[in-house]
Amino acid sequence: MSTHMNGPVPYETDVVVVGSGAGGATTAALLAEAGFSVVVLEEGRWIPQGALRPFSLEQMTQQYRGGGVTVALGRPSIAYAEGRCAGGGTEINSGLYIRPPTELLHRWRRDFHISDLDDDEIAEICAEVESSLSVGFVPGRPTAASERLRDGAIALGWQQNEAPRWMTYPPSGDATSGRRQSMTETYLPRGIRAGAQLVTGCVVDRLEIQHGRVSAVSYRLNDGPVASGSKSEPQHTGATRTGRIRCGAVFVCAGAIHSPALLQRSGIGGPIGRTLAFHPTVKLAARFPQVVNVDDDVPVHQVKEFSPNISFGGSASNSGLVALALSDHWQVFKDAVTDWQHVAVYYAAITSQGKGRVRSIPGFHDPLVTYHLTGRDRHVLRSGLGRLGLTMLQAGATEVYPSFRGAPVVRNRADLGAMQQSFSAMKASLMTVHLCSTVPLGEDRDRCAADSFGRIHSTANVYVNDASLLPTAPGVNPQGSVMAFAIRNARRFIATAHRRTARTSA
Ligand SMILES: Cc1cc2nc3c(=O)[nH]c(=O)nc-3n(C[C@H](O)[C@H](O)[C@H](O)COP(=O)(O)OP(=O)(O)OC[C@H]3O[C@@H](n4cnc5c(N)ncnc54)[C@H](O)[C@@H]3O)c2cc1C
Repeated sequence: MSTHMNGPVPYETDVVVVGSGAGGATTAALLAEAGFSVVVLEEGRWIPQGALRPFSLEQMTQQYRGGGVTVALGRPSIAYAEGRCAGGGTEINSGLYIRPPTELLHRWRRDFHISDLDDDEIAEICAEVESSLSVGFVPGRPTAASERLRDGAIALGWQQNEAPRWMTYPPSGDATSGRRQSMTETYLPRGIRAGAQLVTGCVVDRLEIQHGRVSAVSYRLNDGPVASGSKSEPQHTGATRTGRIRCGAVFVCAGAIHSPALLQRSGIGGPIGRTLAFHPTVKLAARFPQVVNVDDDVPVHQVKEFSPNISFGGSASNSGLVALALSDHWQVFKDAVTDWQHVAVYYAAITSQGKGRVRSIPGFHDPLVTYHLTGRDRHVLRSGLGRLGLTMLQAGATEVYPSFRGAPVVRNRADLGAMQQSFSAMKASLMTVHLCSTVPLGEDRDRCAADSFGRIHSTANVYVNDASLLPTAPGVNPQGSVMAFAIRNARRFIATAHRRTARTSA
C-alpha cells in the first residue's frame, strides 16, 4: 500500500491523531498495533526523505510552516521554525539525538507532580526509539565544520562531544551520506502497516466537545496535488472540502504552537498556551583558511561546558544561509560571502528563564505567539556569543561575524571584548527550533492542563502527546524526550483502555 495517497476519509474511528510529527507518528503506530482503529490527520504533504535537498530554499518552501518565516513577537522578536509535512519537524531537523537527562526527569517529576514517571521505563523506551531510528555516530571523520568546533573546545579545555543521529549510512558512506530516519521512514509506515490511515493536506479546525467529552473532529481537506517549485507557500490546486470524523478519543499532536491553539479554538480552558518555552539561539559566522562548508548538512559536535545554561553547535550553512548570517552588518561583512566555502555558521543556544504565550485569534488559523526574554537571558546570550567567538578563534578562524546589527568583525581576543560591549539582544537575529511546554503535563492543576499521561484534566478523552507536554525547555535537543513521553503515554492509554474493556465484559 502506498503510504501517502489519501483514500476516502472514514466517518468514524476509535482514535483521531492530529499531526504526524515526533509525537503523532509514534502515538499512531502504538495505538494501531494495539488494535485501535486510528486516523491521522496531517496538515502538510507527504514528501519522501531525499526528494528535496536538506536545508534548501525548496525544502523550506515545501516542508516548513510559512516557508520558515514564523516569529514570536517581543522585544526582541524571535524567529522560530516548524515542520509542516507528514512527519512534522522530524523530516527537516538536524537529527541530533539526546536522551532526556535523568536529573531533568527528576526535576520535572518533583516540580510538576508527575505520577509514575519511572526512570527505568523511560530508559527502556529510549532504547526502543534508538533501535527503531538507527541512532548512531557518523562513519569516518565528521565534517570539517564539526571538527573546527570540536578542536576549538579542546584547545580551551572545554567539554565537547559528538551527538549521535537518527541516520542510516550506505556501507562505504561518509559523514554526509546519511539518510534521516524521520517519521516517514519509521513510525508512520509502521502505523500504516498496522492499519492506521494517514490523511495529508488535512487541517483540523476544531474538536467537538460536550460535557467534557470529544465526540468528533471537524477538518478541512485539500485533495489536490501540490504545485512544487514555486517560491511561495505550496499551492494546493485541488478543491477544499470540509468534514467531520466521529471518534472515541483524540490525541492532539500538532506541535507546541498548534496543539494549544487547537485546544483553545475548541473552547477548552485552563493553563493552555501560557508557558511556551524554547532555547533562544544567537549565531555567528566564522571564516577559516581552509574549506569548511558543507551545504546540505550540519555539524555533529556540541560544546557542553556551560550546559544546561548554554550549549554551542553548528547550523546549516549553505551559501544563502551564510549570506543571511552576514546580513546583520552587510556593508562590513559582505566580502565574506564570496568566500562562503570557507565560512560556516555556529550557534549558542541558551536555557531561557523567559516565557511565551500562544493565543488563538478568532477568524485566523495561525495563533499569535509572543515571547519575553528576562534580563538574565540577555546576559547569558551575550556571554554565550562571546564564548562561542572565542571557540572559533581557538579553532583557527581568521574572522568571526556575529549576528547582530552593526556587529564588528572579530579577529582576536581584544575584538571579542569590544564585540561583547556592543552586543544587545535587541539588535540580535535570535531564533529557535525547539518549541515546547505549552500544555505541561502533571497533577499540579494550576500549572498543568494535562494529567501525568497527557489527558486534558477537564476532559474524559482529549489527550495531548507532543512537545507541548514537556514541562520546561529541556536544555538538550528535545525530540528524544518528545518521543519517550509520547510512547509512555500511548502505552498507558492502551493499558487503561484494555482494562476498561475487560471490566465491561466481565
Ligand atoms: C530545523 C529544525 C531542526 C531541529 N533539529 C533537531 C535536532 O537535531 N534534534 C532534536 O532532538 N530536535 C530537533 N528539532 C526539534 C524537533 O524536530 C521537535 O522537537 C519535534 O519534531 C516536535 O515534535 P511534535 O510532535 O511536538 O511536533 P512536530 O514534529 O512539529 O509535528 C506537528 C505536526 O502537526 C501538524 N499540524 C499542526 N497543526 C495541525 C492541524 N490543525 N491539523 C493537522 N495537522 C496539524 C504539522 O503540520 C506537523 O506535521 C528541530 C526542529 C527544527 C524545525
